[in-house]
Amino acid sequence: MKKILITAGILLAAVVITLAIRTVTYGFGSERKNTAAAPAITARPSDAALERFAGGLRIPTVSSQDYDDTDFRPFDEFIVYLHESYPRIYENMETSTVGKYGLLFRWKGRDDSLQPVLFLSHYDVVPVTGYDPSTDTGKETVFRPDDTPLPPISAVAETWDYPPFSGAVAEGRIYGRGSLDMKCMLFALLESADSLISEGFRPERDIWFAFGHDEEVSGRNGALRMAEYFKDRGIRFDAVYDEGGIIAAPGSAMESIDSPLALVGTGEKGFLTLEIEVKGLGGHSSMPPAKSSLVYAAEIIEKLNSNQMKARIIPPVASFLKNIGGETGLVSRTAIANRWLLGGILKQTLSKSPASNALIRTTTAITMAKGSDAANVLSSSAVVTVNFRILPGDTVADVMEHVREICAGYDTEITVVSQREASAVSPENTIGFEMIRECLTTLYPDVITTSYITVGGTDAYKYQNVSDNIYRFMPIELNGYEQRAIHSENEYISIENYGRMIDYFTDMMSRY
Ligand SMILES: [Zn+2]
Repeated sequence: MKKILITAGILLAAVVITLAIRTVTYGFGSERKNTAAAPAITARPSDAALERFAGGLRIPTVSSQDYDDTDFRPFDEFIVYLHESYPRIYENMETSTVGKYGLLFRWKGRDDSLQPVLFLSHYDVVPVTGYDPSTDTGKETVFRPDDTPLPPISAVAETWDYPPFSGAVAEGRIYGRGSLDMKCMLFALLESADSLISEGFRPERDIWFAFGHDEEVSGRNGALRMAEYFKDRGIRFDAVYDEGGIIAAPGSAMESIDSPLALVGTGEKGFLTLEIEVKGLGGHSSMPPAKSSLVYAAEIIEKLNSNQMKARIIPPVASFLKNIGGETGLVSRTAIANRWLLGGILKQTLSKSPASNALIRTTTAITMAKGSDAANVLSSSAVVTVNFRILPGDTVADVMEHVREICAGYDTEITVVSQREASAVSPENTIGFEMIRECLTTLYPDVITTSYITVGGTDAYKYQNVSDNIYRFMPIELNGYEQRAIHSENEYISIENYGRMIDYFTDMMSRY
């Protein structure tokens, strides 16, 4: 007995020592190269550059699900506007349109043997609730680029400081629907290229831009067709850059992290929306059966909720944990560094917060449920709507299988409302990813750059058949308020962010 105890004691000590050593020697992100000598650049774009961007925000390119309902006049106007604003670009690049509104630009490089690089953006925007842009005539434009910037706000916006399509430049900001999502990137790309062209620069490899007009409503006529255009011509890209990640200001992604956190989406989740119709006995509510269809539906809801899809730590999330681990407490640090032993505990901890839970599993959200239309009527069928966000590695078929197992024993009919598989995951050991890291280090010396999984959908997904290296990231540092303003009230970008974005792309285009 004593021998067994001694052996167990030695084993335990060995495990503890191993855990400690691995924790201490683990390459957390705190060892990142953040000591670049270059000072942070706080370039303020020229007044002319600000005007060009603001002018683009004034054109209400609102896309809608139903293409017949879309007012395409602003889209036509936007294309003319780009032409007038950037004549040098149109003279120096080959331009073409795919469909009527997919805009392609090719900046010919010096070396044909190198794979080109592709920058994506979209110029459609989501509508503004309760706001009809067509009634917004005679806009008074505000242009005060020298205002002292307002301090960051942390609450949630309820109203617009300036009208959503006014393109106001004031308080150190540029206001407007699309200022973050994502005309900022479109205009920053054009500004960068335009200034490089004016200096007589020509890129090493071909640089392409592809700007879609329907990203917010599926991208089926824009990005999808432009990706096909490249595929048909056998053009493959060394890297594709799109939206889908930002630099979270210190404390805005995780309280314990006091550095800016650059989140580069190397993959994105898919989705599946199902309607589950549950059948039961109907009738009058004065003589209800033991269980009505709605009660069965409630049981299914409960089962869906308590039987979540399995948690997994996929490579981008593993490297996310590794990169931020150094900034977390000892317990998390030990768990991250010792996943071989503490992986279960780590997953349990991550499951507790909605944000981290979404990174480690296919999530289940029961969003709608319906019984009968009257208070005293029992319907013979009830309908439950559930929305899954699929983690790369799981498939639509896996989720269907999971739902069928849960519904076994009930009389149900399952209808797919919408679906899309999760994306492939792009590698980190590429020039394309390293380029992001390098260009950021100059602008944000203490930034932590890490891959992660984009939870929403982007156009980038459609370019999977023309590149293995797809990176979803906009080089702007947003506080919590600004992150929440996307698709919501009071969307703006700080002039400083816009300036840095131009610097970033100028740097990237000249280096790549
Ligand atoms: Zn977008």
